[in-house]
Amino acid sequence: RGAPRFRMSVRSSAISVAPMLTKLQEDCATPLPVLRHVADSMSDDIRAGLAVEGGSDLKMILSYVDSLPTGNEKGLFYALDLGGTNFRVLRVQLGGKEERVIDTEFEQVSIPQELMFATSEELFDFIASVLANFAQREGGKFHLPPGRKREIGFTFSFPVKQTSIDSGILMKWTKGFAVSGTPGKDVVACLNEAMDRKGLDMRVSALVNDTVGTLAGARYWDDDVLVAVILGTGTNACYVERMDAIPKLQGQFSPSDRTIVNLEWGAFSKGLPLTVFDRDMDAASINPGEQIFEKTISGMYLGEIARRALLNMAEEGALFGDNVPKKLSTPFLLGTPHLSTMQQDSTYDLQTVGSILYDVAGIDSDLNSRKIVLEVCDTFVKRAGRLAGAGIVGILQKIEEDTKGTVFGKRTVVAMDGGLYERYPQYRQYLTEAVTELLGPEKSQNVVIEHSKDGSGIGAALLAATNSKYDHNY
Ligand code: BGC
Ligand code: MG
Repeated sequence: RGAPRFRMSVRSSAISVAPMLTKLQEDCATPLPVLRHVADSMSDDIRAGLAVEGGSDLKMILSYVDSLPTGNEKGLFYALDLGGTNFRVLRVQLGGKEERVIDTEFEQVSIPQELMFATSEELFDFIASVLANFAQREGGKFHLPPGRKREIGFTFSFPVKQTSIDSGILMKWTKGFAVSGTPGKDVVACLNEAMDRKGLDMRVSALVNDTVGTLAGARYWDDDVLVAVILGTGTNACYVERMDAIPKLQGQFSPSDRTIVNLEWGAFSKGLPLTVFDRDMDAASINPGEQIFEKTISGMYLGEIARRALLNMAEEGALFGDNVPKKLSTPFLLGTPHLSTMQQDSTYDLQTVGSILYDVAGIDSDLNSRKIVLEVCDTFVKRAGRLAGAGIVGILQKIEEDTKGTVFGKRTVVAMDGGLYERYPQYRQYLTEAVTELLGPEKSQNVVIEHSKDGSGIGAALLAATNSKYDHNY
């Protein structure tokens, strides 16, 4: 008591931590052979999932979207977007080939944390009430001919077994959602019941995954779009497939020769370089053993994996001196946006890194430890971006194998969306590098990776138009 308290710097953190960092980088390494193996396994899993129901980790869900927007769509349409962090409602007045998007309005609310653990009725009541409020304020250039219901494109970004273009059963929740009572139910029926309770008379004309909405939205402007990828809270991809390349359809009638298939690639699991931190995080998650690709490459998890690695370095390598910062034991304390902000720090003494560590975790850091923190972030982000790139190549090469020249022999666009892709420059760069490394200079020249910002909202509205119950060319 009363004795002077000071921190003894008997060991330099940078020295004892260095071998731990090296080991981490080795465990996360994604040299070309690893990427190639992931891309090839992705192609194989796509084929296996198209062959028979349940044939692979990839569900290869048929979207029932077999006609894509042409530009001729006309009229007023609504879209709902329930995904990870936010809920969006949107309306758009479409004016056909010449006028295209006459006007659009949207509203975004963050999903209250408690709703992610609520009952199905509570979640859908929330959605219906936001929609009811929004629909009430329609005016201006928005116009619905008399005698029609307002039609909705419903983007629901979870694994849904589609039963038609406007119905589908929730298979399971992902991205931390644990709403009771929805799995096994038709989510459009859930929404309709909630709209009934609110006295809201609108109808869902298209139920789509966010990847499918993004593909449709991007295709509206560009005929060369073949694949869409979401890299946000969660991750997934879809692409345009030929009907006769889907054996599990068993020749079922379809008016079109093409359709969009939703991979649900978050469930992919082959050949991924995983660490003890990934395994521990998975074991502690609400869906252990599931969504392994998603847990390795998407925004919900990158910060948490990094936190686990940093905690381990603090405990066993004195990363932050002799004391282990207490707060660092809090699950999900670090978010992926923190990682991105830290990695944009260009001050010579890494001030931003220092203040994030202090503000978020109460950590006093020196320059050496800040450098190591950055290395740890970069290690996981590099792995994630490169694996995402390998996944994209897996899709492209599958299509190319079936129909030579249709992918690499001409311009092919991959439409991208999601906060991780949008707001993490290093992630984007690692992704692009991996695609180029895998494809080589010639083929990769024809592959255009394009940001299609918020394409899924407009895309869903467009698909509501394409699948309208009315003659929509008014
Ligand atoms: C869901 C997908 C969705 C993706 C991106 C995943 O967790 O399973 O359906 O497309 O997140 O939002
Ligand atoms: Mg989204």
